[in-house]
Amino acid sequence: MALIVGIDLGTTNSLVAYMAGDGPQVISGTRGQAKVPSIVGLTDNGLLVGDPAKEYLVRDPSRTIYSVKRFMGKAIADVAEELKYFPYALQEKGGVIRIQVGEKTYSPPQISAMILKELKLRAEAHLGEEITKAVITVPAYFNDSQRQATKDAGLIAGLEVLRIINEPTAASLAYGLQQNTQGCVAVYDLGGGTFDISILKLKDGIFEVLATNGNTHLGGDDFDRRLVDEVIRDIDTRHGVKVEDSPELMQMVRLEAEKTKIRLSDEPQALMVFSLPDGKGTYERTWSRDEFEALVLDLVEHTMTPCRRALSDAGLETGQIDEVVLVGGSTRMPVIRSRVQELFGKTPHCDLNPDEVVALGAAVQAGILAGENKDMLLLDVTPLSLGIETMGNVVSILIRRNTTIPTSAKEMFTTYVDGQTGVDIHVLQGERELVKDNRSLARFQLKLPPLPAAVPRVEVTFLIDANGILNVTASDIRTGESQSVQVKPSYGLTDDEVETMIRESFQFAAEDIKARQVIEARTEADAIIMATEKALQRGTDLIPAEEIESIHHAIEALRVAKAQEDHRQIRAGIADMEKVTHHLAEVLMDATLKEALESKKLSEVTD
Ligand code: AMP
Repeated sequence: MALIVGIDLGTTNSLVAYMAGDGPQVISGTRGQAKVPSIVGLTDNGLLVGDPAKEYLVRDPSRTIYSVKRFMGKAIADVAEELKYFPYALQEKGGVIRIQVGEKTYSPPQISAMILKELKLRAEAHLGEEITKAVITVPAYFNDSQRQATKDAGLIAGLEVLRIINEPTAASLAYGLQQNTQGCVAVYDLGGGTFDISILKLKDGIFEVLATNGNTHLGGDDFDRRLVDEVIRDIDTRHGVKVEDSPELMQMVRLEAEKTKIRLSDEPQALMVFSLPDGKGTYERTWSRDEFEALVLDLVEHTMTPCRRALSDAGLETGQIDEVVLVGGSTRMPVIRSRVQELFGKTPHCDLNPDEVVALGAAVQAGILAGENKDMLLLDVTPLSLGIETMGNVVSILIRRNTTIPTSAKEMFTTYVDGQTGVDIHVLQGERELVKDNRSLARFQLKLPPLPAAVPRVEVTFLIDANGILNVTASDIRTGESQSVQVKPSYGLTDDEVETMIRESFQFAAEDIKARQVIEARTEADAIIMATEKALQRGTDLIPAEEIESIHHAIEALRVAKAQEDHRQIRAGIADMEKVTHHLAEVLMDATLKEALESKKLSEVTD
């Protein structure tokens, strides 16, 4: 069986690991470092990846790409806020970001593929065989397009991606917590650019992810940025130098800020010192840990809200968490450790190197796929609800958020208009009742033969595979025709959007339900008005004129009620309509029966 490697494709650093005889092991490069900085330098003399690219970053920032994971499966509009921190030029093509380097542009998966190729080469050199299969991890909050972009990156790098797994899920495997018979585990993962919290439940050696939450936009980079902003101000005040005007100086400040932050994890004070360009002197300042912690206090608190929300989604109190696992380089900060311990009331596990935990877990998963540990299963959940648009711009949910994946759901839909020759399937993601408040993932059409309203039967199936990628299929039950899409939205979601979507679903719940009730009542009113007008055309000569008159009145009254915002009034109008059309319906039914009988008799005679 060919070896399968596990890859942690991180925002800041990436690692590759494999299942050695006695457990998972990360693979180090020639310099003895397991971490490969997720940085790519596209120089005139060739490609640099990892540490050499990190060194090149200061020399030519416009040709050096870092944090590309932030752009995976996204559009420029999604990352507008932080563009000032990126010295390289971005363009957009078909809704997807392209990174301009010199004359050429590259997609984020192409850049990520360069990092993956480096990891593949490293693994091949260490293991002495060709590596073509991998498990790659992504943050729990990655949406379908981001997961797909990650798979694409693997493909470009010549790797078959057997499984995309969530980083915190991988971490739980690395700690081998499956050896406990049962219990609940909180995995707190604060890396370079992402934050994830997962609540896992262990039962009989099987992991189930009860809930995930987090922020794909919060990590060590943000902590660096707090220092960077302070230093920029300080340099301007003390030396009259505008750091933003010099991409090289900006990079220097970024690297120095990170170094200072890391030193402050071990020491109460750290000295920052570097030369300013053009003979403007030397910048020098001593930072204390207290000063730094004051600058980042709100960032630390920002990670607490998703923790509480995940707990509540899992239906647990903090006291019910048995174990806490720390993942990601940023969990080395003492302020993080103490806040996490305070929140969960447990001393967190941090025995393994927090930078390596995810890659080690990916290797364990690779081992499971290679058949080394068949009886262990990994379950993930979908972070937001998924559904389709139905009549009146409301959402019909097929898969609720926090449903364990892989999963599938089916629902039957029909048409509202006679002779309709197709249905639009509009796939949505989010927690709100109305289409406009949710995120549009995809649209496609299923053609139908023209039939009376409500006759066609369209079955819509949602299938989320083990990689979290959504397949939507719509089938016409009568003809067997079907159409499907694999959802690859061109726009990604920012972490804040995910949080906002969930928060707003609670905040606007009452309003949303009211709006939905009005819309549903209006849709029903439209259908009954349409059907009644059609019936009147057939039945004009069959019922008395006063009855026709009162039906017209009822239609008018229902139209007036429909214009109001009160669903009860519309429902009352519908009930009135049903009452006044009762006789007409009976008469038409009789007439239809009679016609059918007569045509039968006629055919018997002719036979
Ligand atoms: P990861 O994505 O897990 O590799 O995390 C990398 C992040 O961890 C970067 O933002 C680093 O600056 C940060 N980091 C690494 N070591 C430390 C440390 N000792 N103290 C604080 N942050 C650290």
